[in-house]
Amino acid sequence: MSDPEDADLRLASINAAMTTAFDHVTDARDAAVIGMLLQSLDATGIGLCLCDEQDHIRYANTAFRSAFLTSLSRSPINFVDALADAIEAGVGIKLESQPLDQFVTRVKERRRTHKQALSFPVDLADGSWWWVNDHPLETGWMLVIASEISSMKTEESRLKLAHADAVKAAQTDFLTGLPNRRQGFEAAEVAMAVFRANRLPLTLALLDIDYFKQINDAHGHETGDQLLIHLANTLSARLGPQDQLSRIGGEEFLLIMPSTSLSRAELKITRLLDAIEPLSRRDGQSLTVTLSAGLVAPDPGETFKDALRRADKALYSAKAQGRNRIELSRPG
Ligand code: GH3
Ligand code: MG
Ligand code: MG
Repeated sequence: MSDPEDADLRLASINAAMTTAFDHVTDARDAAVIGMLLQSLDATGIGLCLCDEQDHIRYANTAFRSAFLTSLSRSPINFVDALADAIEAGVGIKLESQPLDQFVTRVKERRRTHKQALSFPVDLADGSWWWVNDHPLETGWMLVIASEISSMKTEESRLKLAHADAVKAAQTDFLTGLPNRRQGFEAAEVAMAVFRANRLPLTLALLDIDYFKQINDAHGHETGDQLLIHLANTLSARLGPQDQLSRIGGEEFLLIMPSTSLSRAELKITRLLDAIEPLSRRDGQSLTVTLSAGLVAPDPGETFKDALRRADKALYSAKAQGRNRIELSRPG
């Protein structure tokens, strides 16, 4: 039971508040109006909690109590202690890794010193999310308003996931799952910038399937697609941790090999191409495929586009010399 003196004080403060807040009510001391007001505040889903200058809870409506508090066993009770009682009982605010006593000290301090309105999201042990507004009042009291935003939070996470999916899709080649041309070129620009900054060697390679049009014509487009997937998987599985492979055209791949000199890259790519197994087809036949490659070690002063042009020239030369081979572009 609360102290009668305390109750008198409470009534006095209600009266004082009503003098200003209920000027428009015909009889400002009409207890029925207060009753109706409190009843209507209970009818809303918005949580309301009013605390005095000692931060003792003087009023909390049903929505606030059921979301943030257990039954108030002590009276008067400090607002933060009441939140802590609920947390200890496994309801109310969810504390991630923060110890309870730290939470109590931190929030008490904030509520004591912060004289401006403050808004923030809070998640509860039951999984719901609330948007909380702390409104310090001129009287030194504090009004806490809490509105549930769980549905908005769900929508927000759905949109975040959808956005991440969309970004991934915009960077990925649909058929092979490799990074696409845009992503490959971006990665190459980054590799060039790193190369310019630290001068560790860098090799870029263009790989192009030989006679792919003939393969399509002879075996069908679907087999051509399977071959592209087969090659993407085989090459990816054998790359070093720093190497980046992308599909930059129909049957053309860009391989970025940071910290790799032209001669080491040549050796690695020779092994890579030698390791390509024929594609086993559903009819039991196997389809042999070869690639040609043009390699370039960019100059520090060279743009990516210029380096790519040299790699393309080297690739053209590999094709002209009979395909299934690697050509290096020398500077100058
Ligand atoms: P080269 O040895 O000179 O590179 O000859 P090529 O036939 O490989 O090159 P060309 O540029 O003449 O033909 C490329 C072919 O790649 C033509 C096109 O139909 C095929 N192609 C491009 N994208 C795809 C794809 O996604 N799937 C399939 N199946 N074929 C594709
Ligand atoms: Mg080709
Ligand atoms: Mg081509």
